Amino acid sequence: VEDALRQSQKMEAVGQLTGGIAHDFNNMLATVIGPLDLLAMRLGDNDPRAKRYIDMAIDGATRAAQLTQRLLAFSRQQPLQPVPLDVNQLVAGMSDLLVHSLGSSIRLQTVLAADPWRTFADANQLENVILNLAVNARDALPGGGRLTVETANGEITAGAASAPADVPDGQYVLITVTDNGSGMPPEVIAKAFDPFFTTKKVGQGTGLGLSQVYGFVKQSAGHVKIRSAVGQGTTVTLYLPRLMADIAAAPSPTTSGTAPLSGGRER
Ligand code: ADP
Repeated sequence: VEDALRQSQKMEAVGQLTGGIAHDFNNMLATVIGPLDLLAMRLGDNDPRAKRYIDMAIDGATRAAQLTQRLLAFSRQQPLQPVPLDVNQLVAGMSDLLVHSLGSSIRLQTVLAADPWRTFADANQLENVILNLAVNARDALPGGGRLTVETANGEITAGAASAPADVPDGQYVLITVTDNGSGMPPEVIAKAFDPFFTTKKVGQGTGLGLSQVYGFVKQSAGHVKIRSAVGQGTTVTLYLPRLMADIAAAPSPTTSGTAPLSGGRER
């Protein structure tokens, strides 16, 4: 719990700082890109070489602007719009996007739960989270490989050997993303959720993917766990709370099935 608190305070502080910087930086970039565009227009076809240099400058500045956009999105912590959600439908609906993002050397496998429970979460953000995980898997599979996205119903009960540390008892909808890529050593796992922690080259990683994943599950009253071994691969498991209304409505000797539809975030 203390770790989780420290993690979210860290994210908040970093978020505020980067939000301010990204905002100002973005405005400054606009004062660079604007005049370059005008210059390129004035030049027309008169001087192709000069035009090429200007295009290169515009290109670089545009990429910088895209990075600040991402930083801004991260720092804003957009309010979530949770809805009752069937994760099977969501995962199935992403397969084209995933295949496209993974490229032809990585095989996508989806394993969907039979009779899945529903959760209460923001659909767009959850898609983003799964995409982040898939992109990380792709980066860990430079020579190709396999990515599996699996949904499952999961009940955590106290003391069970299989219960992961820090995941409280309860009923969860599980989404597991597994790759057979490079894996992470323990010291990388320990820092993986930190904002701006990356082992990738400058320009290839922002270190924001997993901290976004972490922020999302916390805001959704869920949890996230990484299991990874160097040379074997990585499994990231999202634990999203089962929709309250569905728990209450499930046939049981003590409930009558007249649960309110809203407020499914906590349990
Ligand atoms: P980024 O991908 O921009 O580096 P992330 O926060 O998504 O930022 O990931 C942080 C780090 O965690 C990565 O730089 C990488 O070292 C490690 N990592 C994340 N996912 C995986 C994975 N599936 N396999 C191996 N390493 C990973």
